Amino acid sequence: MTSKVMVGGVPVGGGARVSVQSMCNTDTRDVAATVAQIAALARAGCEIVRVAVPDMAAAQALGAIVAQISIPLVADIHFDYRLAIAAAEAGVQKLRINPGNIGGEEKVRALVACARAHHLPIRIGVNAGSLEKDILAKYGGPTPQGMVDSALGHVRLLEREGFEDIVISLKASDVASTVAAYRIMARTCDYPLHIGVTEAGTARMGTIKSAIGIGSLLLDGIGDTLRVSLTDDPVREVETGLDILRAIGLRKDGVSVISCPTCGRTQVDLVAIAKEVQRRVRDIRTPLTVAVMGCVVNGPGEARYADVGMAGGRDTAVLFRHGERIRTVRGAHIVDELMAEIQRVLAEKQG
Ligand code: SF4
Repeated sequence: MTSKVMVGGVPVGGGARVSVQSMCNTDTRDVAATVAQIAALARAGCEIVRVAVPDMAAAQALGAIVAQISIPLVADIHFDYRLAIAAAEAGVQKLRINPGNIGGEEKVRALVACARAHHLPIRIGVNAGSLEKDILAKYGGPTPQGMVDSALGHVRLLEREGFEDIVISLKASDVASTVAAYRIMARTCDYPLHIGVTEAGTARMGTIKSAIGIGSLLLDGIGDTLRVSLTDDPVREVETGLDILRAIGLRKDGVSVISCPTCGRTQVDLVAIAKEVQRRVRDIRTPLTVAVMGCVVNGPGEARYADVGMAGGRDTAVLFRHGERIRTVRGAHIVDELMAEIQRVLAEKQG
C-alpha cells in the first residue's frame, strides 16, 4: 500500500478512495472567473483542483481564491520557488513543483521548510516532454524508465531534507509509455501516485486514451488520485474521471445505465430512450442500476438484476422493478414511466 498524504481534508494514498482532480483553464489572476470555474468543477464532483501560478500576480490571487472555494487548491509552479512560498503563504493545500528545477540546494531547503511549516504535500510531476538532457542521452529518448529516474532524482532532493509528504506523477501523451512508467514506479517506491495520460487530446480520443491508461493502472491497483486531461471544458475531465472509476467499480454512486446495442429485433426507439434516460438520471447520486433493453430476448434477463428495467416490444416496453414484471407501457410514455419507477425505487431506498 502507498503512504498517505493529506491535501487539505482529502486523503491521497494509504488505501483512501481514489480522488478526482482537474485543473482550471482560467487566468488565475482573474479571481472571479477562477472561483466560478472551481464551483462548477466541485458541483461536477471534482475533489481537488489545481491552478497554474506563472507569476507573482497569480500567486497573490490565490488567497482570495482559497477563501471562496470548498475543495483543496493545488498551486502548479515551474522553476520559481518564491512562487511556491507565496502560494503556501496564501493558503493553498498542495504544491506541484519539481525541486530539481528550482536552482539549487538552498532553494530546495527553503521550499521544504515552507511546505513543512504549512503542512503541504508536494507533487513531483514528471512529463515525458521535459525530461533532463542527461536522462534523454542515457536512454536515447523519453522512455518509461527515464521518466521514473527523473522523478526519483527530484524525490531524492526532498528526502535529503527529510521531507516525505510526496506525491508522484509520470505523464506521457502516449498511453503505453505512461502505463509502463507507473508500473515501474509502483514497484520502486510507496509514495502515492497521481495518474493520468497527459495532453490526451480532444474529448473523444482523450477520453479513450484516459480510460485505457488510467483504467489499466487502476485495475492493477495502481493510482491514488487521477486527472483526466482533455482539450475541452475541465468539467468534462471530472465527469470522465468519475465515469472511469464507476466503470471499474471503484465508485458506486450514481445510476449505472445498462443498455443494449440494438439489432434487427428492436422495434422501439431504444437509442432515443436510452439517451434520454441517461440524461435524466445524471444528477442522481444514489447507487442504482437501470436496464434499457431492446427486446424480450435479453431484456428480462438484464432487467432481473437491475433495480428498474425495460424490455422493448413493438413500440411498447415491459417495465420491471427489482426483477418483477410490472406493466406494459406505450412508446411515447416509456421514458416518463421508467423515470417514475426510478423515483419509486429511490424513495424506497431513501425511506
Ligand atoms: Fe437485440 Fe434484444 Fe439484444 Fe437488444 S436485447 S441487442 S434488441 S437481441
